[in-house]
Amino acid sequence: MVRAWESPLLLKITPYGDPLLRRQSVKVEKVTAEIKQLANDMIETMRVASGLGLAAPQVGKSLQMFVIDWAVLDEDRDDGVAYINPEILEKAGNNVNKQEGCLSIPKVYADVIRPDKVKVRYTNVNGKQVEETLVGFAARVFQHEYDHLSGVLFIDRVTADVRKDLKPGLQAILTGEVKPFDPEHPDESLMEKEER
Ligand code: ZN
Repeated sequence: MVRAWESPLLLKITPYGDPLLRRQSVKVEKVTAEIKQLANDMIETMRVASGLGLAAPQVGKSLQMFVIDWAVLDEDRDDGVAYINPEILEKAGNNVNKQEGCLSIPKVYADVIRPDKVKVRYTNVNGKQVEETLVGFAARVFQHEYDHLSGVLFIDRVTADVRKDLKPGLQAILTGEVKPFDPEHPDESLMEKEER
């Protein structure tokens, strides 16, 4: 079935506990029409599920790509951007402790320390290589999504004590009591505004 570029499909979000989230993703060889469609579908899914970012493993694809919603990060913008084969070239700025969440780990939030400035390189949906410096919360979102591509979750970046506190929330996802966004059952999935 061929879908029009204009009609994005909502994708099911991979829940915490699925081994796919722990896998090393593979490089995108070429920015094909399928990759562009996936980027579009991911942007739409991220927005409907009220996320700030979404990585390919979170929609069942073990590929090195993720999307970020700049409409939420910057009031002067309204675009969602796909980052293909992203790299972090340099981490700088200050180490900042701020709360994070994850569309694959609904209802679980914890503070994570990350640098607030990163120089990055990636391929965009037009197949062009881009280098830029991200600061503030955008730098954080980039690093969170980048972690997904090597199977790292934000809950891995907290202390053992904090992790202990998160356990009941994580358990609720493992048992299926709390589910991430699923387009087939939108009512059952959690959708919290202003969180990701
Ligand atoms: Zn995440």
